[in-house]
Amino acid sequence: MDGQPILKISEFFDSIQGEGPYAGTPCVFLRLATCNLKCSWCDTKYTWDWENYDISTEIKETGICEMAEKISLSDKKHVVITGGEPLLQQAILVSLLSLLKRTGENENKSNAYFIEIETNGTVIPKKEMIDLVDQWNVSPKTSNSHNDQKGIDLDKIYEKSLLFYKDLRNASFKFVIDNLEDLVELEKILKKYDLPKGQVILMPQGTTKESMLDKSRWIINYAKKNNIAFSTRLQVLLWGNQRGK
Ligand code: SF4
Repeated sequence: MDGQPILKISEFFDSIQGEGPYAGTPCVFLRLATCNLKCSWCDTKYTWDWENYDISTEIKETGICEMAEKISLSDKKHVVITGGEPLLQQAILVSLLSLLKRTGENENKSNAYFIEIETNGTVIPKKEMIDLVDQWNVSPKTSNSHNDQKGIDLDKIYEKSLLFYKDLRNASFKFVIDNLEDLVELEKILKKYDLPKGQVILMPQGTTKESMLDKSRWIINYAKKNNIAFSTRLQVLLWGNQRGK
């Protein structure tokens, strides 16, 4: 691929953002492969779980010029970079995003790309990365993800990184809520890291419409009472756990 930096890509598709502060926005999704966590309820295990998925068919190695061209062929200017954990490839991502931003700005200002990053919040982004990103959707994992059973100490990992993200003016914190105990843990995390409630969003855990709606009812009650935002996950309501939607 003529020496250009290579990204490990899982999927690329047109859709609408299904969750978070830009829910409902038409966009392109670039899903990067590999993750440093092992959440039990992960709905994108095909990006990292090589005991159950075939790495050689799941990962497409793509040069940044080819990727930028694919993105530019879409009529969407809102780009959601997700994973897996996209910041594991941040050095190369910086090159792709710089290229995209330059292209958009060369066309005209109103055509500039808007870049949204979805991260698990475990990796601290570099300065060059921060300058290129318009919205950070940080989704810290709680004990309902059972990473501890895989030998991953979430408390230790988040000790530094959440304090870092807290100070980014364009960061939202999306918490996936599965059960009532999660709300107790949520309150401890908000207090420990002093996360501003205005930047927190609660979302139900689930891969079916029924389980999502069921949990949404009591999560919304809690959200109303505590003046915290709620977000549904449109992609699950509309398509369950189908890929590429
Ligand atoms: S951080 Fe996200 S991609 Fe990684 S295992 Fe957890 S849910 Fe899956």
